[in-house]
Amino acid sequence: MIPVVKTIDEVRKYVKSWRREGLSVGLVPTMGFLHEGHRSLIDRAVSENDRVVVSDFVNPTQFGPGEDLEAYPRDLERDAALCEEAGAALIFNPEPEEMYRGALTTVSVDKLTKVLCGKSRPVHFDGVCTVVSKLFNIVTPDRAYFGQKDAQQLCVVRKMVKDLNFDIEVIGCPIVREADGLAKSSRNTYLSPEERKAALCLSRALSAGRAAVDSGESSAGAVKAIVRAEIEKEPLARIDYVEAVDMDTFEDAETVRAPFLAAVAVYIGKTRLIDNFIIE
Ligand code: AMP
Repeated sequence: MIPVVKTIDEVRKYVKSWRREGLSVGLVPTMGFLHEGHRSLIDRAVSENDRVVVSDFVNPTQFGPGEDLEAYPRDLERDAALCEEAGAALIFNPEPEEMYRGALTTVSVDKLTKVLCGKSRPVHFDGVCTVVSKLFNIVTPDRAYFGQKDAQQLCVVRKMVKDLNFDIEVIGCPIVREADGLAKSSRNTYLSPEERKAALCLSRALSAGRAAVDSGESSAGAVKAIVRAEIEKEPLARIDYVEAVDMDTFEDAETVRAPFLAAVAVYIGKTRLIDNFIIE
């Protein structure tokens, strides 16, 4: 059975022994309740590294007050079975105490974190950057794998790695979707059957935006309007944001020019879902 390790010291022991053998190490940071989106990251990591560590940690510092920290779904046993089947070497599943006992330090990336999800989730990216920095220092991977599902997170982590000189290659992986288009997410489990149908408005709207780009629409404002109009047709949806930005700067895009990110966050009932498309 794949080892499930609770302490930083134990992770370090494993990694040191692998390093002594000259093995490469990949890291897949997750909050658990793993699905095929996570699995795609683990598969890629297993194919590119000798040993893969999956962190499985519902990181409290990236949740704001009133968000779903307590309700966040957890199933370590199922996660362990998935990681084992995928060929990962180790699961790191610390308690919050192990990660944050007495901690006074926060890692913060400016500017890129003030827009899109950062507007409605002001503490979120500090929590992400701090925990990812800690995981990088604990596991010291050669490569770390992140999903394009959280496109802003991927860009913020890339910037942090560059600015803080982490000697780690950050690898972005495509969005894995359900057969009907909904982006896979641990939070999809919150949706009632009626909300699950309504949640399709995100991918439908982004597909409409993408189709407009593919047929020559070059105004970012027009693309946003198409996406917004499609979501607004869904009575159970409440838009948090519909944005189109330059992916290097996260400044509003006027024209659709690569690297371009169109991203949405939408409440379906109480569940906040995100999705996006990228022109690279
Ligand atoms: P989470 O457990 O939601 O924090 O996600 C852990 C990692 O898996 C992040 O890098 C996510 O971007 C990635 N991920 C989550 N859902 C998907 C998906 N549907 N497709 C690809 N990657 C995903």
